[in-house]
Amino acid sequence: MNPLKQMFPGHDSLQDRAGDDRFHDECGVFGVFGHPEAANLVYLGLHALQHRGQESAGIVSSNGERLLEEKGMGQVGRVFKRRNLLRLKGRHAIGHVRYSTAGKSALLNAQPFRIDSCKGEIAIGHNGNLVNADQLRRELEAQGSIFRSSSDTEVILHLIAKAPQADLEAAIVHALKQVQGAYSLIFITPDRIIGVRDPRGFRPMALGSAGTAHVLTSESCALDLIDGTFVREVEPGEMVVISGQGLKSYRPFPAAPSAQCIFEHVYFSRPDSFVFGRSVHEVRKAFGRELAREQPVEADVVVPIPDSGVYAALGYAEESKLPLEFGFVRNHYIGRTFIEPRQSIRHFGVKLKLNPVRRLLEGRRIVLIDDSIVRGTTSRKIVAMVRGAGAREVHMRISCAPTIGPCYYGVDTPSRKELIASSHSVEEIRRFIEADSLGYLSLEGMARAAGGAKGYCTACYTNEYPVPIPEEAAVRVGAPPQSR
Ligand code: SF4
Repeated sequence: MNPLKQMFPGHDSLQDRAGDDRFHDECGVFGVFGHPEAANLVYLGLHALQHRGQESAGIVSSNGERLLEEKGMGQVGRVFKRRNLLRLKGRHAIGHVRYSTAGKSALLNAQPFRIDSCKGEIAIGHNGNLVNADQLRRELEAQGSIFRSSSDTEVILHLIAKAPQADLEAAIVHALKQVQGAYSLIFITPDRIIGVRDPRGFRPMALGSAGTAHVLTSESCALDLIDGTFVREVEPGEMVVISGQGLKSYRPFPAAPSAQCIFEHVYFSRPDSFVFGRSVHEVRKAFGRELAREQPVEADVVVPIPDSGVYAALGYAEESKLPLEFGFVRNHYIGRTFIEPRQSIRHFGVKLKLNPVRRLLEGRRIVLIDDSIVRGTTSRKIVAMVRGAGAREVHMRISCAPTIGPCYYGVDTPSRKELIASSHSVEEIRRFIEADSLGYLSLEGMARAAGGAKGYCTACYTNEYPVPIPEEAAVRVGAPPQSR
């Protein structure tokens, strides 16, 4: 038997789907209140948040009396044309880009979801994942609710519609007190928009302005595109209601220890965003500096794996005093729909995305910097590619701790058994990816770079889940149930 098969049962069969051995982004939300071109601004905002979800996009606007909706499958530029943007009239609008973390990827699951209930018309966009959605859905169905989608977000709408309170804001609070997990939500009604962040603040949300208009956005980078101004972050547990009466802020939920997702700093958020009180670019570079201090190596050059390793590599090079070279050229035009043309030329997925620059690598000792190893299959191919380009030694450095557990709070991770670090030591992973050395940043190093561990969720590195995971959710993603 192939010794690799003996050592890593299962991993050799995990092909990387055209280099798709990555964590996937989650969702992004964007809203504007009080602008004559509200839908156009949301369209631009969604473009800036496209990295958070590419499977579907949608915008709901209010013409002051009714909600108008346009959504479709694919990226923002594909879904919205001049024609459907013109239909989205009104001075208020919200939008959503989606990568499916719960519910299948289909138009029925594309957000924002809009309903007309006894509380009036309302639409919702959600970034995050509810851990008790299955149980709530079963209870609601037993009481006669009929669901149109398989998304956890629709549960919130049903809970709002069934809430005893006639007042919509009170009904939203009543509904959200029943859900558990991660949510940064944006709502629109004919006369207001509302932003809410769950009490632990897993996912980011910022408040901004564009002239006299108010803006809500998953990430501050989207404000730059509309010439907006960053005002502040929406706080964990805060509900912001923006209407003709101005902006009101409420704290309707019991306080809970903050659990902001540290992986937003490692990978998800754009480096030009300000997230959880810090510049993503600065934190990412600080991860690289810490990594250089913790995992030094005798080498000639630091090479980032684009795009995710670039900022950590800058920090590593700065701290180690080694030169930084862009040793890969990335092809930005490979979509998720790529079809391998022939069986005989299969398995070249990573090569489609990355090509090594032989002249920069040949004969040199290379420190490769990436932000994570998921299954290990892609890292293995990249190391082989660098050796194939003539590198003398290949040392892999990872700008976060080993990923040992899946995420239940809105990040699409493979199951526990697919995560190579959940069942293999660093030395075993090194042998699998065939690097000369392998080093991860420690959890302590991550915390130092991100301004202290307090306030962050680090569950995928520690298996300590800040919101208990129901057994059924744990079984679905192949993890043992947690309870605390
Ligand atoms: Fe972020 Fe990991 Fe926590 Fe999920 S489990 S919220 S990816 S830190």
